[in-house]
Amino acid sequence: MENCLFCKIISGDIPSAKVYEDEYCYAFRDINPQAPTHILVVPKTHVASIAEADQLSPGALAAILSAIGKIARQEGLDNGFRVVSNCGPDACQSVQHLHFHILGGRQMAEKMA
Ligand code: AMP
Repeated sequence: MENCLFCKIISGDIPSAKVYEDEYCYAFRDINPQAPTHILVVPKTHVASIAEADQLSPGALAAILSAIGKIARQEGLDNGFRVVSNCGPDACQSVQHLHFHILGGRQMAEKMA
């Protein structure tokens, strides 16, 4: 999609620190990390948020979920990690392309919000 930051990252028009890629998804380091490990996993097909995830194929949905575990193992997040997907203004979603934050490398707060 034109003018979507993450579509431009997936296409390589905007540089990123890639950590994983397969047929369906792309993962890269967050530019403003909120934990020692902070990675974004995005579908290659543009959908705005998790609220529209039903527009993705079952294969793409499965690939994203399995990618999260693969990336966590690759990054050595053996003590655990948190996965977050902000959706819409109430959740402060700032990029309108579905993404999952993988946060790890430190103890997370017990309270999530
Ligand atoms: P959210 O606020 O949930 O929509 O998350 C968007 C995330 O994208 C934020 O954590 C930003 O730091 C991150 N971000 C924005 N621009 C870039 C970029 N060029 N490369 C990597 N991460 C980015």
